[in-house]
Amino acid sequence: MTNFNDNFERAMELPMPARTFAKLNAAGDFVSLTVRPGLINKHVTAEQLQVLAQLADEAAVKYSAGHSFIVSVEQQKLEAVVAKLTAVGLYAIQPGARAVVKCCDFCDGDRLEALSFARELLQQIEQLPMKKRLRIGFNACTEACYNAVRDDIGLVYHNGYIDLYAGAVQMGRRASSGTLWKRKIPEHELLPLLQNILSDFEQSDCKTFAAFVKRGE
Ligand code: SF4
Repeated sequence: MTNFNDNFERAMELPMPARTFAKLNAAGDFVSLTVRPGLINKHVTAEQLQVLAQLADEAAVKYSAGHSFIVSVEQQKLEAVVAKLTAVGLYAIQPGARAVVKCCDFCDGDRLEALSFARELLQQIEQLPMKKRLRIGFNACTEACYNAVRDDIGLVYHNGYIDLYAGAVQMGRRASSGTLWKRKIPEHELLPLLQNILSDFEQSDCKTFAAFVKRGE
């Protein structure tokens, strides 16, 4: 019989990490990379796990609340590490303030109606430098199971139209979902609109996107 009790007891030892980004960075010069199996795919291959295992041996790897691994990398090894990640198809987001698009997994590739739009969105917006990291959730159907409405900007696709949610507060005691800002935006109108929103936020004196949205209400 499968022994889940032993498994639970082992987990209840509550191990704490010996190496974290903070500890490593206090002793050296480290950066932290956000790493994902792909822009849409969420399955990890054996060779990707081998690369992550090697990086965990050298420094630290943890997983985050944002569907990503956080990989600590010594600054002087960054170029070599990114080349290793690229070789096995692991996607790396540069450190720093950028727009980051978090896509759902398109039902593991079974629902691809929104793929060409998502490709355009990623090409235009992903990793755009911003004053602050801005999370843009893209969910490819109205089930929105990847919680786009909890991101700074949530995009929910349906039959060639997108509902845009904005203003979520992701952390803290006042955490809340974004509100529906605009409904049924045709695909061809979404990108120019989004670029205008990002540019207006950049030029505003608002520190957070939620404050920017609140001011516009
Ligand atoms: S949001 Fe829709 S298309 Fe995307 S993974 Fe969830 S159910 Fe599938």
